[in-house]
Amino acid sequence: MLKRDGDYLIKAVAAGGQVRACAISSRNLVEEIRKIHGSSPIATAALGRTLSMALMMGADLKGENETLTIQISGDGPLEKIVVTANSRGEARGYVNNPYVIMEPNAAKHLNVGGAIGKGKLTVIRDMGMKEPHVTTINLHSGEIADDFTYYFAISEQTPSSVGLGVLLNKKNYVRAAGGFIVQLMPNCEEPYIITLEENLAAFSNVTDVLKKKETTPEDLLRIILDGLDIEFGERQKVNLYCTCGDERNIRVLSSLPKDQLKEIIDEGKDIEIECEFCKKKYKYPIKKIEKIYKSK
Ligand SMILES: [Zn+2]
Repeated sequence: MLKRDGDYLIKAVAAGGQVRACAISSRNLVEEIRKIHGSSPIATAALGRTLSMALMMGADLKGENETLTIQISGDGPLEKIVVTANSRGEARGYVNNPYVIMEPNAAKHLNVGGAIGKGKLTVIRDMGMKEPHVTTINLHSGEIADDFTYYFAISEQTPSSVGLGVLLNKKNYVRAAGGFIVQLMPNCEEPYIITLEENLAAFSNVTDVLKKKETTPEDLLRIILDGLDIEFGERQKVNLYCTCGDERNIRVLSSLPKDQLKEIIDEGKDIEIECEFCKKKYKYPIKKIEKIYKSK
């Protein structure tokens, strides 16, 4: 049994399989990424929402080595968010400008839509062979949950409802984070759709539920799917995990053109590579670069 405050996601079906759903509690990993990047409240909210989404979508990947990447590029000050997740509940991510500060929006909430601006949402499914499957749509509001509701409607013709939330406390630490996806299967009967619409209309928001003590992703789904006879699947743990390392760095260095390697050697300084996802620093002596240069 996982303890209540451990991050996890859970899948469910309802209405005899006519509705599919997933919910996640991601407070710990969003707080961890906030610390890693030293991100501002608005950047933490944007990155945290995208991480929750990627983990829920990643849970639907079939193969062990498949990955799902979400890229959100806008003309707002955050510029770009990149998050990658796999089917094992592991994710990593970064935002181009993690220190952005903005006034709250009209509803006195973090203005994530304004910080992202107008732009594109891209989802890349990499099956570990041949070309990855890439889908790009225009951002709808930049609030992320809305954008994914549109994404599912446009790219997968699946009527969906997506909720995502990150709530910070007075010290700007992450107090609650999570989300849900609810999708109608093509055979979904009208009375179920009406019940679901009523439940969603009465629903406040994700963090209002998850901030309360002892509430879980299951509770989120019990509220949204009330009256639809839910069957829960297994809980899956979720956490941050980075795939950076020496092997990957050497591959990148080896792929540099010869004249660029020559420039590094002529400069004569050891080089440092910082992972943009987890901020880990790797140092390589100039001798290593000379070796790569000679082997080309
Ligand atoms: Zn890393």
